[in-house]
Amino acid sequence: MSNADLMEKLVSLCKRRGFVFQSSEVYGGLGSVWDYGPLGVELKRNVKERWWKEMVTSRADIEGLDAGILMHPAVWEASGHVEGFTDPLIECKNCHRRFRADEVRDQCPRCGVRDQFTPPRMFNLMFRTFMGPVEDEAAQIYLRPETAQGIYVNFHNVMTSARQKIPFGIAQIGKAFRNEITPGNFIFRTREFEQMEMQYFVKPGTDKEWFDYWRNERLEWVKSLGIRPEKLRMQQHTREELAHYAYDAYDIQYEFPFGWQEFEGIHNRTDFDLSAHQERSGKKLEYVDAAANERYIPYIIETSGGVDRLMLVLLADAYREEEVEGETRVLLSLQAGLAPVKVAVFPLVKKDGMPEVARKIADDLIGRIPVFYDESGSIGRRYRRQDEAGTPFCVTVDGQTLEDGSVTVRDRDTLRQDRVSSSKLSEYLAGALV
Ligand code: ATP
Repeated sequence: MSNADLMEKLVSLCKRRGFVFQSSEVYGGLGSVWDYGPLGVELKRNVKERWWKEMVTSRADIEGLDAGILMHPAVWEASGHVEGFTDPLIECKNCHRRFRADEVRDQCPRCGVRDQFTPPRMFNLMFRTFMGPVEDEAAQIYLRPETAQGIYVNFHNVMTSARQKIPFGIAQIGKAFRNEITPGNFIFRTREFEQMEMQYFVKPGTDKEWFDYWRNERLEWVKSLGIRPEKLRMQQHTREELAHYAYDAYDIQYEFPFGWQEFEGIHNRTDFDLSAHQERSGKKLEYVDAAANERYIPYIIETSGGVDRLMLVLLADAYREEEVEGETRVLLSLQAGLAPVKVAVFPLVKKDGMPEVARKIADDLIGRIPVFYDESGSIGRRYRRQDEAGTPFCVTVDGQTLEDGSVTVRDRDTLRQDRVSSSKLSEYLAGALV
């Protein structure tokens, strides 16, 4: 299977099974915006919950925050985004397609004509809108292009209300918007997306140590999601690649079907952001260490991941095709903890009282484990649907169940079938799903 094939198959599976749909599809779709369907939204929730648990609820030194998407426009002037959050835009004079200058060479990727590009002009990626009924410059505001700034301007509020001392962090999950010149590759680069960001405030001079610490923590967490380690790597930014606020930066990259690309960044943002907000707002954003009789503007180590990009990593990594008895079996080998549905329950046939027994088993599990009941179509088709949905276990009620109360439990990855007493099923699944 070629890499282009893999992407096509993944997009089609995502639609078929209800992971991801194109936005406004009935109107022909809206470029680079995607909607998450019933299975996609569960996978996304599981990813975000894992992150939140890791970064917030299992640590005493990190607090959560949920800031507004709309912020005072001065935030984006101080942060440097109005001035510097730009990409170089060029246009092919032949086909009038627009590209990011750093993504193409001398030939138009669309029409193939050579050396016919306009000179690059800087294009600001922030979406603009107006607050209130008057659409003039004074009312112009932005949709946030990163969640980080909501954290910086709340640094003092969080620190004092949560009684934190440096070093400590603030974490946030939320939507961000970028008017990307060339979105694409499904949910990899979109104009509306979600970020999971954590900003860790440290004493200047300890920043290198904390940078190394977070680099390591984040890579370990990503590995804990079951992603194949040979498909992961860390890549340091070159001087040219560094963002306007960064002193040092590493990307965690995955080998997507379209090549190695970043899905999370770890950045040393120094005191750039807090200094800028202090200067612009006139409000002191220093940290006062009374015990050491010191005051300073903290340095910030940022971990910034995209939820949607991580979803694509997980989906691409989990996609498998296997030949079983002359047929191709397609499955998503998602880690059980991330899988949207954990167990599917089927009656082998729709008669002899099997549906009633199966439904009772499903009803007993519901509320404790995400379960799906299905009695339509052949048993083979039902298994195939669940394999594609990434469901780790299928429980089947058959003739023997009616005699001795045992059911079969089929493992998605190994295809092994265990016979388990239905009274012990919940215990069996609890053990297998950890
Ligand atoms: P790229 O170079 O791919 O544009 P970036 O370096 O601008 O990304 P950051 O500003 O570091 O990205 O953003 C942090 C994370 O937010 C990225 O690692 C990615 O997961 C996510 N992200 C950024 N832009 C997009 C986008 N347009 N669509 C989806 N996710 C995005």
